[in-house]
Parts: sequence; structure tokens; C-alpha cells
Amino acid sequence: MTSASIENMDIKNIKVSELMIPAEKVAHVQLGNPIEHALLVLVQSGYSSVPVLDPSYRFCGTIGKTAILKSVLGIERFEMELLSQRKVEEVMRTDIPSLHKDTDFLTCMKTVINFAFACVVDENGSFEGILTRRAILKQVNKHMYLDKDA
Ligand code: AMP
Repeated sequence: MTSASIENMDIKNIKVSELMIPAEKVAHVQLGNPIEHALLVLVQSGYSSVPVLDPSYRFCGTIGKTAILKSVLGIERFEMELLSQRKVEEVMRTDIPSLHKDTDFLTCMKTVINFAFACVVDENGSFEGILTRRAILKQVNKHMYLDKDA
């Protein structure tokens, strides 16, 4: 589907599959990685958090820079040696909603009010990609602009 045809359809009919970033283009880390690896991925990519997957590529949660730094914060200093000892699964956030490819637009919009992105999974929980707040806001912006001109 072209972006022009997305613009012209009713916003409520836009599906996640039309807006998501596919798994192969998403930076992620694995449950068993040391948090040092996750911090490297986050700093190098510039993202504030990324999805965490298990060895079967199922979505398990997300991990962000702030959570990693908090987890190594001691009383007076950052205990940087902990970065190589702690695993992603000890620090990741698991209370993250997920979406399906056919989730309706309004549900997606409500989901990204509280999260910068949501993960998209199939019926087995396998990771398929992410939907960002930016992608949702872009559609809302296009829709409002068209309405104003109408
Ligand atoms: P954006 O809407 O592009 O500013 O992205 C918001 C957040 O979504 C970023 O800070 C990341 O946490 C996540 N994100 C966006 N694109 C990617 C990607 N390609 N790989 C991993 N995480 C991403």
C-alpha cells in the first residue's frame, strides 16, 4: 500500500501491519545477554529502549538505558563491574503491552499514549516488529490535516 492510499482511507481502518517496523530492522537483545551488551546496543543505536527476545525469538519485554544505570547504581557510585555480571532478564521490564498485526488503529493509539513503542507479536508470541508512537502520530497528523482542508 502506498502512503497516498493510506492517507485517503479512514484512519480507523489502518492496520498495524501497514505502519510497523519489521523485525529484521529492529535492534534487540536476548534474555541471557549481559546488561553491558544491552547498554552498548542502546548507546550505539541511540534508542532509549529496545525489545528483549528469548532464543526462540519470542517477545519477553523491553530494556532501557535508565533501568540499566539504576541497576548498577550503588550508594556513592555506579558499580560498573556489575554490567558484565547482571543479565538482561534481571533488569528488563515485562509489563509491556503487545499488539497483533490486525489490531485496530484506536487500540494502537491508546497503547502508545504510555509507551514510545509497542511490540507486535504473532499468535505464538513470536516477535514480528514494533509500532512506534511516531508512526501513529504521523497518521493522526495526516488525518487532521485532510479534515481541515475538507
Ligand atoms: P521513534 O518514534 O523513532 O523516536 O522511536 C521511539 C522509540 O522506539 C526509540 O527510542 C526506540 O526505543 C524504539 N525504536 C524505534 N525504532 C527502533 C528500531 N529500529 N530498533 C529498536 N528500537 C526502535
